[in-house]
Amino acid sequence: MTIAEKLQKIKTDLPDYVTLVAVSKTKPSSDILEAYQTGHRIFGENKIQEMVGKYEELPKDIQWHMIGHIQRNKVKYMAPFVSLIHAVDSLRLLKEINKQALKNNRIISCLLQIKIASEETKFGLTETEVSKLLASEEFKSFQNIKVEGLMGMATFTSDKNQLQKEFGLLKNIFDNLCQLKTENCELKTLSMGMSDDYPIALENGSNMIRVGSSIFGKRACSINLKPTT
Ligand SMILES: *Cc1c(COP(=O)(O)O)cnc(C)c1O
Repeated sequence: MTIAEKLQKIKTDLPDYVTLVAVSKTKPSSDILEAYQTGHRIFGENKIQEMVGKYEELPKDIQWHMIGHIQRNKVKYMAPFVSLIHAVDSLRLLKEINKQALKNNRIISCLLQIKIASEETKFGLTETEVSKLLASEEFKSFQNIKVEGLMGMATFTSDKNQLQKEFGLLKNIFDNLCQLKTENCELKTLSMGMSDDYPIALENGSNMIRVGSSIFGKRACSINLKPTT
């Protein structure tokens, strides 16, 4: 199947209330254009420089989602155009996003990343940390961001029970926090599920999925080839 066919197949099977982010990281702009020509507009990248490069090359009505871990000193490069930042995991990062959004005269939408996986390598906040963050005076002073939801990544496993448990936990946190509504916070989006686990994420209340390899094909393995000195 072509990229266009795979994308359309996934979309037809999704309920209306689910937003599909087509994750195009490491893939060439020509692949993104093929997906774009089907009418799809939402693409996800995990490296800021790569996303900026593609933004410059591609049609300007694409909505770019930053789904990767973010270094604060790079926020400025995406602040003029990014549509949603998924993996915000600290007040310091929110402060920088707010600052760069203000400079660009924008309000930038963000999701807070919750740690649900058992792997040490995955980032994110606990429920207690999120509650504290959202209740803080400093957070309430940020006028150029809008926290619109939560995001999580499950453990890399084929164990269905564990995936159920992790997505269920995130949905639970989402439900606990979603009554909370302030000027710059209203939780509506629950971003969970990738190529291998999105059906389980949808069963557990996801309304935004991030799908890469099932649309664009396998990515080249990105092992860090550091010299072993
Ligand atoms: C790469 C990536 C995805 C997509 O992964 P696939 O398994 O290719 O669908 C989703 N979310 C995040 C945060 C990613 O980095």
